[in-house]
Amino acid sequence: MIMPASIDAKSYYQASAHPFPPQPSLKGDLTADVCVIGAGFTGLSAALELAEAGYKVVVLEAREVGYGASGRNGGQICTGFSPGQQRIEAQLGKEDAVKCFAIAEEAKKLITDRIDKYKIDCDLQWGYLHAIPKPSQFDDLREWKDEWDALGYTDTQVLSKSQLEERLGTRIYHGALREGGAGHFHPLNYCLGLARAAIAAGVRIFENSAVLDVDQGPMVTARTAQGSVRAKFLIIGCNAYIGRLMPELYGRIMPVTSYIIATEPLGENRARSLIRNNDAVANTNFIVDYFRVTQDTRLLFGGRASYSTLEPPNLGAYMRPRMLSVFPDLKDVKIDHAWGGYIAITSNRIPDCGRLGTNIYYAHGYSGQGVALAGMYGKLMAECVKGQSERFDLLTRVRHLPFPGGPIRTPLLVAAMLFYRIRDALK
Ligand SMILES: Cc1cc2nc3c(=O)[nH]c(=O)nc-3n(C[C@H](O)[C@H](O)[C@H](O)COP(=O)(O)OP(=O)(O)OC[C@H]3O[C@@H](n4cnc5c(N)ncnc54)[C@H](O)[C@@H]3O)c2cc1C
Repeated sequence: MIMPASIDAKSYYQASAHPFPPQPSLKGDLTADVCVIGAGFTGLSAALELAEAGYKVVVLEAREVGYGASGRNGGQICTGFSPGQQRIEAQLGKEDAVKCFAIAEEAKKLITDRIDKYKIDCDLQWGYLHAIPKPSQFDDLREWKDEWDALGYTDTQVLSKSQLEERLGTRIYHGALREGGAGHFHPLNYCLGLARAAIAAGVRIFENSAVLDVDQGPMVTARTAQGSVRAKFLIIGCNAYIGRLMPELYGRIMPVTSYIIATEPLGENRARSLIRNNDAVANTNFIVDYFRVTQDTRLLFGGRASYSTLEPPNLGAYMRPRMLSVFPDLKDVKIDHAWGGYIAITSNRIPDCGRLGTNIYYAHGYSGQGVALAGMYGKLMAECVKGQSERFDLLTRVRHLPFPGGPIRTPLLVAAMLFYRIRDALK
């Protein structure tokens, strides 16, 4: 995959990451019980679970730990699945959709449990606002709350415009659903914490070790430029960064770029005047604006997804007007960091997971909600290796339409994006 320049620009997260020792690159041939490709939330979560259960695990990472979306996302820990419960229910029926929601709830708990267990210092903060850009969307918030109440998730509150404005220093929204059970953290420091825990549990991580091809069979071999890993099981955690490594998976997901800017530190008072309780915030548009304040009082503002591979020449200048449309008073504020990354979407925005043969597992396409879900899908793949596949099998029953390949792939998505932009504007 061709990476546009700013995709590699140094992010706020890299600038504030806790030290993590570089891992060697793979040289020579190894054997393992399980080979994992990709050192993001999915891969590291699976590796950690398996090593703690006594498996010999090797992780191969093309760049460095957290290089992909896990080290560069908005840090927003979300509830449920991106398209909401109804789309899952339409496919799996009510009872199984409820089980899926329970899995998504466990995904958030998994983060808290691991932060506690491995003492991961990553600025975890609970509280989340879903803000509506149009007054006509107020009924949607009530329906959303009712849906979650019925699922037993009751830590939510519908806020009127005036109640929201007591919490948020902008007047552009018309109300919000506030959740106490979603929140935000420093994703790269969480990812590095997972890697540290995995290494302590015996996982060998190799960085700068891109897997170039995979031989399938009763034993799987993953080959890099200078070595190979032969294993009984292979777990693929490459998400949007997979390129064409596994032809069977191409077309199941589509990479979409999302960009984030981080302001200079604003100071405690100014930061609190934007988001009083330090909640994470997202609007309810299809093309989402998401923002939050970091521990050192910067505003992190993300959004403006792009389905084309064209990269704006100056990301900071490109994103700034969006931020000012929400917080016009920040005109004088400097942008210290601007970066982007790839989100993997599926056609129905429900994650896609499954098996290739009997011993290769994959999970991807979290559609912008992978901060919590990716770790959980990694854990579920580990459960499969351990012989308990019930929960993973449930999720594999979700059907996905493949994206087209060839020359119409990108133009089709650009057109789809335009459609949603217009719909967001008209709604
Ligand atoms: C800008 C941005 C903002 C986002 N904001 C949010 C948010 O606020 N909330 C939310 O829930 N989700 C968000 N997401 C999505 C979320 O970050 C992802 O869903 C999640 O991190 C996916 O984790 P992963 O481990 O599956 O993939 P990744 O973290 O992308 O890891 C995949 C890894 O695989 C490696 N790899 C790929 N191919 C190979 C190969 N051939 N050999 C070896 N290694 C390989 C890559 O180098 C990469 O490190 C955002 C994503 C982006 C890009």
